[in-house]
Amino acid sequence: MKCRQEFKLTEGKKERIGVYVCHCGGNISDYVDVKKVVEEIKKGEPNAIIVKDLMFDCADASQSEMIEDIKAQKLDRVVVAACSPKLHEATFRNMAKRADLNPYMLYHADIREQSSWAHEGDMEGATSKALAHVRAAIAYVKSAEPLEKIKSETTHSVLIIGGGIAGLRAAIDLSRMGVNVMLVERSPALGGHVAELGEIYPYYTSGPEIVKGLVDELKGRDNVAIYTNATVMSYSGYLGKFEVKVKVTHRQPGSEYSEITLHVGSIIVATGFDTYRPPKGEYGYGTVKGVVTLPDLVKALGDGSKELIYEGRRIREMAFIYCVGSRQKPPEDGGHANLYCSRYCCNAATSQALTIHRRFNNVKIYHLYRDMRTYGRNELMYEDAAKGGSIFIRFDEDHPPLVAEDGDRCRVTFWSSLIENQPVDILVDLVVLVTGMEPRQNEELNRTLSLPAGSDGFYKEIHPKLRPVETNITGVLISGTAQAPRDVRETLSSASAAAAKAASFVLKNELELDPFVAFVNPQACEAHQECIKECPYGAIELVEELGKKARVTSAKCKGCGACVAVCPTGAIQLKGYTNMEIKSMIEELAR
Ligand code: SF4
Ligand code: SF4
Ligand code: SF4
Repeated sequence: MKCRQEFKLTEGKKERIGVYVCHCGGNISDYVDVKKVVEEIKKGEPNAIIVKDLMFDCADASQSEMIEDIKAQKLDRVVVAACSPKLHEATFRNMAKRADLNPYMLYHADIREQSSWAHEGDMEGATSKALAHVRAAIAYVKSAEPLEKIKSETTHSVLIIGGGIAGLRAAIDLSRMGVNVMLVERSPALGGHVAELGEIYPYYTSGPEIVKGLVDELKGRDNVAIYTNATVMSYSGYLGKFEVKVKVTHRQPGSEYSEITLHVGSIIVATGFDTYRPPKGEYGYGTVKGVVTLPDLVKALGDGSKELIYEGRRIREMAFIYCVGSRQKPPEDGGHANLYCSRYCCNAATSQALTIHRRFNNVKIYHLYRDMRTYGRNELMYEDAAKGGSIFIRFDEDHPPLVAEDGDRCRVTFWSSLIENQPVDILVDLVVLVTGMEPRQNEELNRTLSLPAGSDGFYKEIHPKLRPVETNITGVLISGTAQAPRDVRETLSSASAAAAKAASFVLKNELELDPFVAFVNPQACEAHQECIKECPYGAIELVEELGKKARVTSAKCKGCGACVAVCPTGAIQLKGYTNMEIKSMIEELAR
């Protein structure tokens, strides 16, 4: 086996480097001796043509000064030593571009978060660390090669998987923006769970009415195709150019299903949630007559009758038990438990209580809760329910209520700190288990899409604040309750966010992607295929090119570097983070 290769793309030449060390007001210079850093670099680095300290590197005036320096001194590399690159790397790369310097010939070293702020009170330590960072950055730019953004054409269409309210909302938003929409729903009808809901606070619009409004608008639009009874079978491609195979089952007896191929630029996954189904015996579910789940109650309320009757039993007193299937205690054997709060169920149960108070006289409702999470405006709903006759009683998680049969009624025993933790029995006609949300069981789709899920099982975004609807597969977005438990309002907002993000991808004629992707040196590649096995995004294939060689599809590559780590010959490397660039930095840091 050959030694790992360490090759440079082109031969180096004498570099002309500009170094700009920032004070950040006093954010950096309070603990980093910025002047000393500048002097040391001037002394030790002959290729640093310009070394300056600036009060604010990012200020317009400072950027103009850098642009003038780059042009006047013919600088071909720049180091900015300042705050975190997360904050201003893009600013300085744009500055380089305006100075006609390839933006990837600039390195942004962090001497604020990593030196000044990390070593408050230790001027000497912070200064020597900052100096090491600047030297490492200089070593990097010396090995750097100009890079270009990857350009990729895009199809002006978006696939939405899931026809619940998240999918419908996203479809309308995209359609209004002029994007072609293909919506795939696995069941025969659109609307998902919301289509089965009764009146929804605060406007008392019913679930079916909300769904009808969305579906009617969609059906009137000419750039939307809806496929019901349809499931995604496979997909390939990358942002801008996905190819998705969909199986559509025909409803006519005797038909065979058909398979269609869709070409889209982006995909929104809006597959919704499953309702928690209590196991037999949990709070008497399935063993005590008159114990039902919240969705069961919602269905019963939908019949429009004047009296509240459940399975022949007239309901005068009822108890809601909250947090069923949510906020569970971790099992001792390490098995599965839904540890999260489902967020919507306090609101959903209180809303149903309000509906009952409005529609039926003299129904007494006990709410046995752990914490009442009717947050935001829903707090008004909680107050309204209390005024309407609901009685709210808190129980401790270590002492959950007990439910037993008592003649033709249910006996609920609970303990509450308000009543000195003495057991209290109430007799009710109906016990409603306020069940939470669970991640949708959709093994086949999960296998097909390979989307990452969080420890709670819901699909996981790249970053909850910075990239809240994007996944680590560029161009595949998530929305609604496929991502996390949410109420109707939050679901619609997240659907609109996903639609806006998808539109921002596909409405461009050409996409520009970061150039930090893997590349293969065919001379060094011995086709061991370790990289292909390791790549989580299927970005590498083996091709015939003077023998079998690995090849990377740049648009699919996420620049994670996993392939680089396993390649025994060093044939595969990352643009912008080549072995030589990394090694030269490490050597400087270790000096
Ligand atoms: Fe429990 Fe309320 Fe959270 Fe639902 S929303 S899990 S009922 S605290
Ligand atoms: Fe093997 Fe991949 Fe490296 Fe080629 S690039 S030598 S196939 S690990
Ligand atoms: Fe795949 Fe990551 Fe290598 Fe890119 S850098 S080819 S995504 S393993």
